[in-house]
Amino acid sequence: MFNDAFVSEILGFDASSDQQLMSFQNLIADLKYGITKSVDTCEFVESFSIKNNLQEDSSEFSTLFINWLDNAIIRHNQYTKGIRRFFEGIMENKIECTVCGCQSVSREKFLELRLDIPDDGSQGTVDLESLIRQALAPRGELIEEHGRGSGSICEEGG
Ligand SMILES: [Zn+2]
Repeated sequence: MFNDAFVSEILGFDASSDQQLMSFQNLIADLKYGITKSVDTCEFVESFSIKNNLQEDSSEFSTLFINWLDNAIIRHNQYTKGIRRFFEGIMENKIECTVCGCQSVSREKFLELRLDIPDDGSQGTVDLESLIRQALAPRGELIEEHGRGSGSICEEGG
C-alpha cells in the first residue's frame, strides 16, 4: 500500500478542525492499523460529496486529490514538506539538432506517467519496467530544420 513516510505525513498532525482532512486521516489509519480485512470508505466519500454511484475519471481524480491534499496539509501543518513529493517525478525533455549539435533542455514536473499497454490481443503478461522504458525512449522526431525559424534552438549564424 502507501509507504510509511506518506502514512506518517498524513497521520502526523491534528486535523480535527478540517472534516475532510480528518476523514482521510481516519481512512488511512484504518487501512494501516485497522484489524478488519475490509475498510468502510463511506465517511471519506461522503465528506467529499462524491456521489457513490458516479464513476469518476480515475487519473483526473487522483491528480485533483493529490493537489487538494497537498494544499490542505500544508495549511494545517507548518512542519510539513507536503505530500506531492511522494507522487511527483520530473520529466526532462531534450531536443538536439542533428546538424550542429545544439541542445535545448526543459524540465517539467508530473504526477502521472501514461503508459501504452500493447493492444495485440495476446493473452500474455506485460512487464511494467519495459512499458516505462518504452514510454521514455528517445523519439527521432524531425521538428525543425537546422537554424530555421523563430523557434529554432540553433545558435545564431550556425
Ligand atoms: Zn542546428
